[in-house]
Amino acid sequence: MLILMNVNATDDQTQAVCKRVEELGFRPHPLPGATRCAIGITGNQGAVEADPLSQLPGVAEVIAVSKPYKLVSRDMKPEDTVVRFEGRDATIGGVEVALMAGPCGVESRDQLFRAAEAVAESGARFLRGGAFKPRTSPYAFQGMGEKGLEIMAEAREAFGLLVVTEAICHESLALVDQYADMIQIGARNMQNFALLKLAGRSRRPVLLKRGMSATLDELLMAAEYIMSEGNYNVVLCERGIRTFADHTRNTLDVGIVPAVKKLTHLPIIIDPSHAAGKRDKVVPLARAGVAVGADGVIVEVHCDPDHALSDGPQSLYPGQFAAMVENLRGIAQLVGRTMYDPKCKPVTAAVAR
Ligand code: PEP
Ligand code: MN
Repeated sequence: MLILMNVNATDDQTQAVCKRVEELGFRPHPLPGATRCAIGITGNQGAVEADPLSQLPGVAEVIAVSKPYKLVSRDMKPEDTVVRFEGRDATIGGVEVALMAGPCGVESRDQLFRAAEAVAESGARFLRGGAFKPRTSPYAFQGMGEKGLEIMAEAREAFGLLVVTEAICHESLALVDQYADMIQIGARNMQNFALLKLAGRSRRPVLLKRGMSATLDELLMAAEYIMSEGNYNVVLCERGIRTFADHTRNTLDVGIVPAVKKLTHLPIIIDPSHAAGKRDKVVPLARAGVAVGADGVIVEVHCDPDHALSDGPQSLYPGQFAAMVENLRGIAQLVGRTMYDPKCKPVTAAVAR
C-alpha cells in the first residue's frame, strides 16, 4: 500500500501518518518527492485496510499496490532518484553520467594508486576495486581484504575520488561500510537476501549488480530488499547476462535500461567490462550504455593488465580509458546528459589570485 500526502501536507501530518502505520504493526517508508511526499507501507502480509489511514489529516490518497515491488516502483516516486554523497559534487541518477573506474581488484598500493591517478585525471569521480573478490576458483586471488580497503581509502584522499567496493558476506560488508563511500553487491550475491538486508541497514548507497541469470523483476525485488530495510539509495547495474552467445563473456542487455526507467525511479548504470570480457569490446558497449540512457558506467582499468590478478583481459589501459571518456562525453551530450570534466573545474580563489 502507498499513501500519497497532499501537496501542502505539513511534516507533522506526515509524521502522524507514519506513527499510525507503526501502531497498526507495519513499517512506514516516507519518500519525499518533488511536489509531495509518498509513504510506502511494508511488513503487511495481506491487504492493509485503507479507511483508517485515508481519513488522517494531510492524506490525499491511499493506493493499493498490485506489483510485488513497492518502494522501488515509480508509483511510489514518479521522479528519478538522485543518489548524493555528503560533501561531494558527484551524483548518480541526475543529469551527469557517473563515471566509475579502476582495477578489478586491489593488488598493491602502487597498482591501485597508478590506476586511481589515471582515472581521476580522465574524469572518473568514483574509484572501483575489489578487496574481497568472489572468484570461480577457490585457488584464484581472493582479494587483499581489509588491507585492500585501507589502500582504497588512502587513494580516495590522494585523488579526491569516491570509493565503491564489493562486500561478499556479513563480515566484509561491515568493513566496506567502514571504509567505502558505496557498497557494491556483486552479480553472484544479487539474491543473497541476508546480505541485501544488511546492506539495507547501512546508510551508504548500494550498487546492486544484476545476477547473471536474473530477470528484471528479480533485480527489482533484490533492490526492494535493500529499500525495505530503510536504505533508499540503491543504484542498479547491468553487467551482462548468460546467453548462448560466446563471442562476449556475457551479453550486455541494453534493453533493460529503458525497461528499468519505466518501472522504477532508481538509477541504473552499465558495466561494459564484465559484459565484454575482452578489452576490444568494452568501449563500444560503454558507448551503447550511455546512448541507451544509462546513468553511469563502471569500467575496469589497469596499468599492467597482462599481470593483473583478476580480469586483466577485459581491463582497459589508461590511455584507452581516457579516449573512451572523450567519446562518451559526445554521446552524453547527444542524449541530454553531461559528464564531469576535470579540465573544466571552477577556478578557485587561491588559483585565481
Ligand atoms: C566486479 O565488479 O569485479 C565483479 C566481480 O562484478 P560482477 O559481480 O558483475 O561479476
Ligand atoms: Mn572484475
